[in-house]
Formats: sequence, structure tokens, C-alpha cells
Amino acid sequence: MYTKDPTQPMCPRCGKSMRMNPVENATSRHEPCHICSACGVDEAARDYMQRPPLPRELWHDHDPYAAAFLQFDKQHLMSRSEVLEFLKVNGEHEPAITMISDRYEDEFGIDPVWHYHLSDGWHTGAYIIPIQEGYMMIPYDEVDSEYYEILLPEAATLLDVECCEHFKKELQTYADEMCKIFRLITSIINDGRSETACP
Ligand SMILES: [Zn+2]
Repeated sequence: MYTKDPTQPMCPRCGKSMRMNPVENATSRHEPCHICSACGVDEAARDYMQRPPLPRELWHDHDPYAAAFLQFDKQHLMSRSEVLEFLKVNGEHEPAITMISDRYEDEFGIDPVWHYHLSDGWHTGAYIIPIQEGYMMIPYDEVDSEYYEILLPEAATLLDVECCEHFKKELQTYADEMCKIFRLITSIINDGRSETACP
């Protein structure tokens, strides 16, 4: 983690300090602004490798969480085997996931462990943990009153683009359907109110 000096200008792309004199920084290849030298190098490298530029909505000034997330040093993440070993030692349930969250938060300043509450068709829900190899999804089927989600580490998988699209679609469908239901209920409650208001 870095500490910010309030007098120092901030790179809009990564959020780190830039040089006081704007022209001593890099000029973005894609946006009409200055960015820090490290981001200038990253933009050039992406162009050279024919990779798309970092989307504007993932820049620090738009989304500090995403920017912090993109700057994770992979070497400081746990590996797949470390996570599985950690769960074996600390318990294959939610409290151990919270310990991993806390450990990551100390290291990176943000908590990058997510809880996916919806069924993937095979399991009730899952946790998604960034690891050195990618993003590991650890499912659960049961929720206990003492240990909360009881994990199934033997069913852990690495997320690929296809999986992410599947979960995104499922989440969207679920949210759309629930919003429809709540709109319907709101409308019924409002109708009831107007009836009582006008006897
Ligand atoms: Zn930067």
C-alpha cells in the first residue's frame, strides 16, 4: 500500500502520485490527460502487445476499487494449494474465508473475496477468491448456524471467461425477476392504500 501526499497530483489512471510539473509525467495515448510514468509504460506495453487499452471506467478516478484491484501484485496472492491447505488447517467453512479476506485486506487495502449467493446449477452458492493462478470459486451446499457456509474445497474450480458470462447472465436474470416482483408488490400495496384512503 502507498500513502498519499495531499500536495502531490494524483494519477487518474492508477491513483498513485504524479510529478508536480504536469509535463514531467506521461501523456495518455488514449485520453486527453497526463498519467504517471508507470501508467505511460503500461499503455505503451499494451499497445505493443496489441492488447486493448484499460477501459476508462476502470481508471482510479472512476472506480478506485477496480484500480486497486488491477494493481495487485500476484506474488502476494495465495496460491491454490495454499488456500486449500489454509482451509484444511483453519476449517472448511465461512470463518476461514473471512480470515483470508482479512489477510488480503491487510495486504492490499481492499477486500477482494466475493460471495456469490446464487446457485450455479450444481451448488447453493460459492465464494470467489483471487489466487496466483486466477480466480478460484469454492462452492457450498449447506449453511450451518455455527460455521455458516460449509465449503466444498474438493469442488473448487478456476473461473474462465465462459463461467463469468454464465454467472453474470444468471445474476442479471435473477435481479430482473426480483425487481419485477417488487414492482408488482409495490403496486398492489399502493392500490390497497388508495382504496382505504378513498372509502
Ligand atoms: Zn498511474
